[in-house]
Amino acid sequence: MIQPFNLKAYLDNNTASPAALHQQYLNHQLVKVLKTTGFDSDYVSAKGAWLYDENNNAYLDFLSGFGVYALGRSHPVVKQALIDAIEMDLPNLVQLDHSLLPGLLARELIKRAHPNLTKVFFTNSGTESIEGAIKFARKATSKERIVGLNHAFHGLSTGSLALNGSNEFKAGFGPLLPKVTHIELGDLKSLENQLKQGDVAGFVVELIQGKGVYMADASYWQEVQELCRKYQTIFIVDEVQTGLGRTGKFFCYEHYQLKPDIVTISKALSGGFIPVGAILMTKEIHSKVFNSMENAVVHSSTFGQNHLAMVAGLATLYVLEGENLIENAQKAGEKLVEKLKKLTEKYEAFNDVRGLGLMIGMSFSEPKSLSLRSKFKLLEAAHKGLFSQLIVSPLYTKHRIITQVAAHNVNIIKILPPLIIQDKEINYFVDALDDVLQDMHKGNSAIYEFGKNLIKTAITSR
Ligand code: PLP
Repeated sequence: MIQPFNLKAYLDNNTASPAALHQQYLNHQLVKVLKTTGFDSDYVSAKGAWLYDENNNAYLDFLSGFGVYALGRSHPVVKQALIDAIEMDLPNLVQLDHSLLPGLLARELIKRAHPNLTKVFFTNSGTESIEGAIKFARKATSKERIVGLNHAFHGLSTGSLALNGSNEFKAGFGPLLPKVTHIELGDLKSLENQLKQGDVAGFVVELIQGKGVYMADASYWQEVQELCRKYQTIFIVDEVQTGLGRTGKFFCYEHYQLKPDIVTISKALSGGFIPVGAILMTKEIHSKVFNSMENAVVHSSTFGQNHLAMVAGLATLYVLEGENLIENAQKAGEKLVEKLKKLTEKYEAFNDVRGLGLMIGMSFSEPKSLSLRSKFKLLEAAHKGLFSQLIVSPLYTKHRIITQVAAHNVNIIKILPPLIIQDKEINYFVDALDDVLQDMHKGNSAIYEFGKNLIKTAITSR
């Protein structure tokens, strides 16, 4: 028997700088971006809504790993469930079997979904859920075209990438999935014009768009659903980011009383421990895809039903409901939005707060007062969206809060806090934002110097 692999000793003996390792073996450009924006702390532990560096400085995580850590980090219940699962030596990934755990997690998801959705296909990620949804819609309708929305984000594999509603990330990777059309969120006429051509297999939407936190009202979504029914187009709701309680309901479509044909999920489903995703669909769609014994594995994924992901999923649902986190997301979200709206009255550049539950976008626009406006214009002329980076960076470097600019070239900041946050985290964030905005509005030179530096670095690295 060889000695056990002692992870702690291994890490203690490997004191290489993480940045140097990434520079040499991983993404050196990202190393540069993190350094330039000031996001270059190294964390050594994480719990709940907080991350810690080696000096035990605490960082408030309002990004949640892009929405993965709905339960907060290192949740003890999910952790214990995974330890138990490993210790049970379960017969994982036999493949030619019908193992219990995927059946149990599928049943739990279906219990929480619209009665129209009765079947589940497990995946490993958000983009894989979208790729599956595209295939299923095509097969179920015998049509080819997929319609999506401008500004949409569905992932970065070639089908999802084609469906994304902006050109970022696409250059040089084509040709992508053909027969994809984009229309504007809220524009029913364009949707009907597309659908009535009779060749649209699926209309894929995020009910709250992750890139920019753009939303539409319930009546629009109801009409979308009706148009999809009328023209026999599969209505696909991408809940990879909005699902599992993020918006204050288990599924975001519940806010709009919708009955989608396919729903894609991922991110929060495993509590952040194991990659996982799922496609929920109607029985009709499922039976058109898996329509014979010969086609029993016509779509499959080696790790899709892996036991650790299934156990993490079951434990995540248990925690979400046992700790009333969905209700907390709704209440904490309302509190946050109310406090943030007060800041919009105080600061002229801060003009809108929107979202549902704990998916919140804050948008900034050109201030009216002359001195601030000229600074804003200068930054925007150098690089569109830089103004919001000048908020995100000091939120991190001065207050140790992780947030993100919501999309390329826009002055929108998005926050995705874990669903566990309480008044302490809400107040900490609002006070910090107040402080940063005050600095900006007073024309604090350090912030604008930092902006100039960002511009210089961006230009020299082109
Ligand atoms: N769909 C939505 C709505 C997303 O927000 C994302 C990722 O952010 C994806 C799909 C892609 O997920 P993944 O990064 O797991 O492939």
